[in-house]
Amino acid sequence: MPFTATLERPRAAGTTDWSDLRQTAPQPTGDGPTQPILEARDVTKVYELGKTTVEALRGVSMSVTAGEFVALMGPSGSGKSTLLQLLGGLDRPTTGSIVFEGRDISALTDDQATRLRRERTGYIFQAFNLIPLLNVRENIELPFTIAGGLRDARDRVRKVIDLVELTGKERHRPDQLSAGEQQRVAVARALVTRPSVLLADEPTGNLDYTNSGELLDALWRSSEDGGQTIVLVTHDARAAAYADRVLVIGDGHIQEEITLGRRADHSAAPLIDRLAQVGL
Ligand code: ADP
Repeated sequence: MPFTATLERPRAAGTTDWSDLRQTAPQPTGDGPTQPILEARDVTKVYELGKTTVEALRGVSMSVTAGEFVALMGPSGSGKSTLLQLLGGLDRPTTGSIVFEGRDISALTDDQATRLRRERTGYIFQAFNLIPLLNVRENIELPFTIAGGLRDARDRVRKVIDLVELTGKERHRPDQLSAGEQQRVAVARALVTRPSVLLADEPTGNLDYTNSGELLDALWRSSEDGGQTIVLVTHDARAAAYADRVLVIGDGHIQEEITLGRRADHSAAPLIDRLAQVGL
């Protein structure tokens, strides 16, 4: 059966059951090394385009621990989005495996992959993908409107609106918001289900400098205050400088790993220096 990347497949209310998909989530053990929450193991991805093939990923291994903020950087066409889509269960690797919360998700059925995306991961794209006729609150409530259980979610919705600093704008429709505010609605919608991992694909790509900063600050708050695990694809060093660790992708490989550590100040200058040293 062909794999479909349908994000929103209706599901009957009250059927949330992760028991067959989810093993015990990795927990930090004392001061020892933490277990990965998400791993790519020797992953390749080949796209077939008629008679030609594109090797988008040529053997990528990487891991993300719970609570970590990781950026994937690299030139256009280097395979960043492809890797993010595999990590988020939006597509399957050609070879290799993706291990999420201790379970290989590379071989999930379509239904299982859909549930994984809806219940365990949050995804933000460059385009905001909001529903124009719904206001801020209704857009953020959407995952619960689809899945049921909205009554229990009111408190969560209020908290994520606060996190992305849109309190007071709950009744605005997307066309009554700035681009940056619209993307922050998309962030809130991705976070409201409390995903294990938030995956963001060039989320500042359509934003100006000020709006980008506000969006990145919202991601940072979710990481710093909420311990949210984040994987961010970006070609912008300023955005990558918010991360604890930067993986530089080139030509379908991870070419460099730059550890920045937790930062109070998000100056990109040291990262730009390092990127210059590795030839980017
Ligand atoms: P990046 O996110 O770093 O810009 P991508 O992961 O989007 O890179 O793309 C990596 C390579 O795979 C590029 O050569 C791109 O053209 C190709 N590619 C990506 N998606 C597809 C697809 N659906 N079909 C065919 N080729 C694709």
